[in-house]
Amino acid sequence: MSVIKVPEADSSGWECAVCGVALRPCAVELEYLDSRFNVELPACPECGMVFIPEDLALGRMAQVERLLEDK
Ligand SMILES: [Zn+2]
Repeated sequence: MSVIKVPEADSSGWECAVCGVALRPCAVELEYLDSRFNVELPACPECGMVFIPEDLALGRMAQVERLLEDK
């Protein structure tokens, strides 16, 4: 399965609020509309917290949906 990269989910400049360490891009498995896919999102290497950008959570899933339909 290919990993979908979301421009809004650039991990640079983000850090974990708990650990204070820089987030790193990490392929996270999401389930959406009965499909599973991997999206690269910033994640904390210490505690595993995954940062989901508000844009992605609120509206960009439609973009991912289109990607799925293209397959
Ligand atoms: Zn952390």
